[in-house]
Amino acid sequence: MSDSREQDRRQALEALRSSLEPQVWIEGERQAPFLKEWRGRYQGRAAAVLCPGSTGEVALILRHCHDASITVVPQSGNTGLVGGGAPDTSGTQVILSLRRMNRIRDIDADNGTLTAEAGCVLADLQAAAQRIDRLFPLSLASEGSCQIGGNLATNAGGTNVLRYGNARDLTLGLEVVLADGRIWDGLRSLRKDNSGFDLRNLFIGSEGTLGVITAAVLKLFPRPATTITALLGVETPTQAVQLLGQLRQASGDALTGCELMSRASLEMSLHHVPGCRDPFDSAHAWYLLVEASSSGTGTALREALELALGEALEANAVSDAVFADSMAQAAALWRLRESIPEGQVRYGASIKHDISVPVSRIPEFLAQAQAALEALIPGLRICAFGHIGDGNLHFNLSQPADCGRDAFLARETECNRLVFDLVDALGGSIAAEHGVGQLRLDALDRYKSDVELDLMRSIKQALDPRGILNPGKVVKG
Ligand SMILES: Cc1cc2nc3c(=O)[nH]c(=O)nc-3n(C[C@H](O)[C@H](O)[C@H](O)COP(=O)(O)OP(=O)(O)OC[C@H]3O[C@@H](n4cnc5c(N)ncnc54)[C@H](O)[C@@H]3O)c2cc1C
Repeated sequence: MSDSREQDRRQALEALRSSLEPQVWIEGERQAPFLKEWRGRYQGRAAAVLCPGSTGEVALILRHCHDASITVVPQSGNTGLVGGGAPDTSGTQVILSLRRMNRIRDIDADNGTLTAEAGCVLADLQAAAQRIDRLFPLSLASEGSCQIGGNLATNAGGTNVLRYGNARDLTLGLEVVLADGRIWDGLRSLRKDNSGFDLRNLFIGSEGTLGVITAAVLKLFPRPATTITALLGVETPTQAVQLLGQLRQASGDALTGCELMSRASLEMSLHHVPGCRDPFDSAHAWYLLVEASSSGTGTALREALELALGEALEANAVSDAVFADSMAQAAALWRLRESIPEGQVRYGASIKHDISVPVSRIPEFLAQAQAALEALIPGLRICAFGHIGDGNLHFNLSQPADCGRDAFLARETECNRLVFDLVDALGGSIAAEHGVGQLRLDALDRYKSDVELDLMRSIKQALDPRGILNPGKVVKG
């Protein structure tokens, strides 16, 4: 950057500082957590870290940055997995953290809505809904830290998508500050509104590149009175997919979650995470963790599931099944699934893929990907698990025991290419729920059509003509 541009930037930031409350400005050591992605893959620098407390302050900051062409990186809980909330290394960007905007503005039991500011922690919103006997069903392992603004900006998925959809499906309205500082008040709490383009859906999933989400109207649901959790042992992914269909049918579509785990991934939890115990006497090649819920007493639901599983056992379509008889047992079953990433760390370096394919093509994907990767890197450990009900797998590779960390990671591009080419051939997505961020920016160019990329660039140009919002993420300039 030339000296005069650097000087202009400093002057613009000084002018901005004088128009903001002192607590907005984060200085010195306190900046550190904002500069680094939590996994440590991306570490940047920033010209300023700002934590505004109101929509008006967000608008003021963006207006200043727009006029001075200072680039802005929006950030909420900073739990993202693709480097979307991390600044670059230039030291010229402003981090705009929404964490002080953490008020619940309204909660309406009759309309089934909750209006929350972007910096509300997801778990706090779940608790607020529970206090009025309602459910806010978005649920992720990071829910104690991630914030609703980040959830919406990434269109987060999680474990309840099968029944309730992802963050997009749970949102009725948004308040967004545009790149030039104008405020779009789209905080409508309507189930039906066909009065023009659906602008809300442009911003959801845009990862901070089109506008800054400052508040949202979220949908609430009846709170389930009964939740049934079961772990099933199966021998093939084909059996798992078929069982998913059968259980959805038998339960009256009451399944809220259905998670697939390979034996290899389960062992990562069992062998390395305290408190994880195998509930079965013998090992199975694959496992399904199934959760169903009902706002009734649940007796009929459990009976329906038991009947369907009994028939499946007789037909050898499932090898074993265990139901949780208490909340503690249900939590222990979920712990097996949620501890996989923690257990995988013990196996050294990993190459991760967050992909989706049509549910019916999951067996094909797993068989072909496994064979091709094992031929490419003998001894590779494949850790496959994920939200099978959504066709979404976390297809992670751990380094072979006899291969060094750097040598393994040097093959990341090759492994990504193999996996993504296969996903693409099966009609899938290379970024199912974590988003594009910086991590998948180049890959997107390869797998999206020219028309789709052109449309994305046109939308970016229309909403952020100076390119100040999160450059280098999602869409290339
Ligand atoms: C243990 C763990 C488990 C996870 N499990 C899941 C899972 O099951 N499903 C899933 O989908 N994700 C999962 N994630 C990823 C992550 O938690 C989600 O992407 C989450 O939605 C990010 O929210 P955040 O508040 O941390 O956003 P951040 O990380 O702060 O930001 C994410 C992106 O959104 C942009 N952004 C943030 N706030 C705003 C805003 N207010 N306006 C505009 N843009 C904004 C940022 O610039 C960035 O590009 C997991 C992460 C961890 C660490």
